Amino acid sequence: QNAVHYARDRRQGRALTGPAEPNEKADTLFVHPDVRRMLMEGKAWTEGLRALCLWGALQVDLEHKAGSEEDRQTAADLIGLLTPVIKGVGTDKGYDIATTAQQVYGGHGYIQEWGMEQYVRDARIAQIYEGTNGVQAMDLVGRKLAQNGGRAVQAFFKLVADEVAAAKAVEATADFAARLERALGDLQASTMWFMANGMKNPNNVGAGAVAYMHLMGIVAVGVMWLRMAAAAARLIAAGEGDRAFLDAKLVTARFFAERALPNAGALRRQIEGGAEAIMALPEEMFLAA
Ligand SMILES: Cc1cc2nc3c(=O)[nH]c(=O)nc-3n(C[C@H](O)[C@H](O)[C@H](O)COP(=O)(O)OP(=O)(O)OC[C@H]3O[C@@H](n4cnc5c(N)ncnc54)[C@H](O)[C@@H]3O)c2cc1C
Repeated sequence: QNAVHYARDRRQGRALTGPAEPNEKADTLFVHPDVRRMLMEGKAWTEGLRALCLWGALQVDLEHKAGSEEDRQTAADLIGLLTPVIKGVGTDKGYDIATTAQQVYGGHGYIQEWGMEQYVRDARIAQIYEGTNGVQAMDLVGRKLAQNGGRAVQAFFKLVADEVAAAKAVEATADFAARLERALGDLQASTMWFMANGMKNPNNVGAGAVAYMHLMGIVAVGVMWLRMAAAAARLIAAGEGDRAFLDAKLVTARFFAERALPNAGALRRQIEGGAEAIMALPEEMFLAA
């Protein structure tokens, strides 16, 4: 939010499409697509991850209070599976967003006076404590995936596939749902790859663990954006709610669909690269340049 205020205030350069405010010496940072990209990344991931945290808290309640034993079990499975994702992806993205917001300030982001470097430093520790994110990823792929014959991950796949199927039938969410379906396909293929290649070499699982955690994070936050987009579209159609707020939700969901969901394919290909290149170098060669 500080970066948003700064971008509205600071004048530097001109809009690519011609001066936005010709009477001023320069336009504000807000006219530059790359500055907007940075601010949109922060907005899309922050709102999506907050929704995922709230969804996780709901699963904790349902684990104890849902009406049937089956529903309590599913909630327990889902929150068990997604806890390392919420922690690991949430804090990795928290740090990324803090440095991206710092970048919006240019040189002012680096120096102490504007306060952004302290946010970056504060965000950094969350990736390390409460289980380093590398160890969170190992918990996900080494323990949570295989538990109870893969019951939890199957429940997650079903949850996403059901929501995708429902959203594909609605015009306002059909495009988002199709893109999320592709990301889900990448997650499922990566899970199968671990099953086929993890037993013969456990390093194949360790080498892909963080990529897999982020891939699952993209899909999980994708579900949250699908829900937010669907809710916004419903309210707009009913003529209810704050229109500017609801329109912003739809635009931010579109940004997530176009900018974050495609990374699922890249992460899948990293996972399928396996451990060979990661494990091949003798230790002393890490010091040779
Ligand atoms: C500011 C601060 C406050 C803290 N507060 C608390 C607190 O209140 N209570 C508390 O109990 N602890 C606290 N800690 C400790 C914190 O939980 C540990 O630092 C953290 O769990 C990492 O352990 P480590 O530092 O021993 O790193 P290591 O375990 O040595 O890890 C080093 C690196 O190796 C990786 N690694 C290690 N083992 C594996 C593995 N099997 N597979 C893959 N990668 C691996 C890690 O991911 C990490 O990148 C705090 C730490 C800090 C810095």
